[in-house]
Amino acid sequence: MTISDVQRVTVLGAGNMGHGITEVAAMAGYDVTMRDVEEELVADGYEDVQWSLEKLEEKGRLDEPAAEILSRIDTEVDLETAVADADLVVEAAPERMDLKKEIFSDLDAYAPDDALLASNTSSLSITEMASATDRPEQVLGLHFFNPPVKMDLVEVIYGDETSDETAETGYAFVESLGKTPIYVRKDVRGFVVNTVLGPFSAEPAWMVSNDEATIRQADAAMVHRRGYPMGPFELADLTGIDVGYHVRKEAGTPIPPIMEAKVEAEELGRKTGKGYYDYEDGDGADYEPGDGEGFDTLRVEARMINEAAYLVGDDVATPEEIDTGVKLGLGFPEGICRRADKIGLDAVLEKLETLYEETGDDRFAPDDYLVELVEAGRTGEDAGAGFHEYDTGGDGPGDYRLLNYELDDDGLLEIELDRPERMNALSGDLLGEIDDLLSAVDVDDVRCVTFEGAGDRAFSAGADIGGFAELDATDAMDVTPAFETVNDFDRPTIAKVDGYCLGAGLELALACDLRIATEGSEFGAPEIGLGLIPGGGGTQRLLRLLGETRAKELVFRGNRIDAERAAEWGLANRAVPAEEFDEVVGEFVDDVVEGPPIGLKVAKTVMNEGADASLDAALAMESQGFGLLMSTEDVREGTAAFREDREPEFRGE
Ligand code: NAD
Repeated sequence: MTISDVQRVTVLGAGNMGHGITEVAAMAGYDVTMRDVEEELVADGYEDVQWSLEKLEEKGRLDEPAAEILSRIDTEVDLETAVADADLVVEAAPERMDLKKEIFSDLDAYAPDDALLASNTSSLSITEMASATDRPEQVLGLHFFNPPVKMDLVEVIYGDETSDETAETGYAFVESLGKTPIYVRKDVRGFVVNTVLGPFSAEPAWMVSNDEATIRQADAAMVHRRGYPMGPFELADLTGIDVGYHVRKEAGTPIPPIMEAKVEAEELGRKTGKGYYDYEDGDGADYEPGDGEGFDTLRVEARMINEAAYLVGDDVATPEEIDTGVKLGLGFPEGICRRADKIGLDAVLEKLETLYEETGDDRFAPDDYLVELVEAGRTGEDAGAGFHEYDTGGDGPGDYRLLNYELDDDGLLEIELDRPERMNALSGDLLGEIDDLLSAVDVDDVRCVTFEGAGDRAFSAGADIGGFAELDATDAMDVTPAFETVNDFDRPTIAKVDGYCLGAGLELALACDLRIATEGSEFGAPEIGLGLIPGGGGTQRLLRLLGETRAKELVFRGNRIDAERAAEWGLANRAVPAEEFDEVVGEFVDDVVEGPPIGLKVAKTVMNEGADASLDAALAMESQGFGLLMSTEDVREGTAAFREDREPEFRGE
């Protein structure tokens, strides 16, 4: 079965995950049957889908009416009827192997012979489920993350006998939902994402159990020093301490005493009001940034990196897939392999070896692949290679991790900030990549540059302040040159703002020459709320662009204005309805791309520099620029075309 044969999808289970998977499949245009064991349960699931679609509709996030999407969903209680016409079945029933095997055996009997059978399990063996069928080559894992509507990642898992065709169709199905698939090429426990996550939760629990750290210290360190979206204990309280406990128990993995104690005391986290933190009588996860000092973050990260090495060495996943997985599935600030390369694999290995020697505990035993990398001199970014390869020098722009770019034959350079999982927050690395790209590209090949944000929520929602607390004042004052590089680039630049444009994101947009926004986008400089001020040129560019009154309102109050007001204030050139956005941007781009490159460059320079000069000096700049242009081929072409009543063809000469 190839993806073009997949039209009808059956989802088993109308619970948390089942209703979400049903929703995203129907949104992508599939006919979906959602099945649960009782009428009431499917009805509840259907209501959940309806509620969620209506919310999305209110926010303008649907391409068609919610009712239209709902009309593609059927509900069913009888299994045989539910799967009779299915091309793909996604099982999302409770996490019990006996139940799953029973279901797969029934599916084998009732689903069409060529149907693909997938499980959404988070931790059970696909191979074992497949063994309950006579078609193990058509069984695969499709591991969605919770909630499926929001989470972009899906792991596509091979059981021992899954065929490439089955896995490829599963992969294409995920792509057709507008989500990002990664292959998990072997049926390993925890697949990719949870394998890396394991030590993030467990190692701090061991350290606290051994009195080597405190809960608040661990959470504060991982969040404020290392930029993780949540502390390990805070996360365990959210997902339920019993969930991690049972997974470890099932796998026969040793359980940290503090975890055991919490489960015994039935303090399972938020759902019971109390876990590692107290949510009823206390203030919940109330750690402070300063609490994290002295915590050995490398010990935790070294173990996660060791797991990543095992996955790569065993051909379960590539470093790129692992990095995508942890960023999209867990909201990690950067890929774990990428982070490993930055830390230095030799330092990681040394940490593991020391701990292994000290404790004799297998969990610190360095993976063979990690040792191999270090022995081969692939110790990370500084060495030019580690898990990943690094561009060491060369002239043109290199490969970038955090942005995508495309330069077409007409000279349009499109740059996409690619951190949708962080709402395209501008980290130092991302700004460095922007700087590098604009410095390395051959300006003669470029006529216009556009910036946009990946995903559908933000142009860029600000600076990535993870790890901020570790910066000292002199680091922070060493402001990145990226904003000036954008501002000074010799070709017109356009910010395409669709969603949040805040903080450093606003500063990037301000460094561009033109800004076009969708209605509903929001602009703001929230830095003052952190006790800071905009540090990428924001105070000065706002002042020059909007005048003192409005600029001070934005900077002092730190609140947001919508696109319509931004346009009224002259912060945006246009605020347009979403459906007209591409067209309007296209019109701006066409004019610029077809315009005379040298003329535009001179116009940009004299206007940017003139704004800061006295009127006399600015007028002198203008006339100098004018004189310079008079001797260009482009002016001859422009005037000739005008006389001959045709479109000019400017060549930038
Ligand atoms: P849930 O308890 O919310 O829903 C499970 C539903 O399946 C229930 O409504 C139940 O009545 C129904 N069910 C039971 N037997 C069934 C059968 N034979 N046929 C059809 N439906 C049946 O559970 P959930 O959180 O949606 O988890 C479902 C699966 O997804 C599990 O395998 C779980 O490991 C996996 N998963 C869960 C999450 C999560 O965060 N909740 C994330 C990823 C994967």
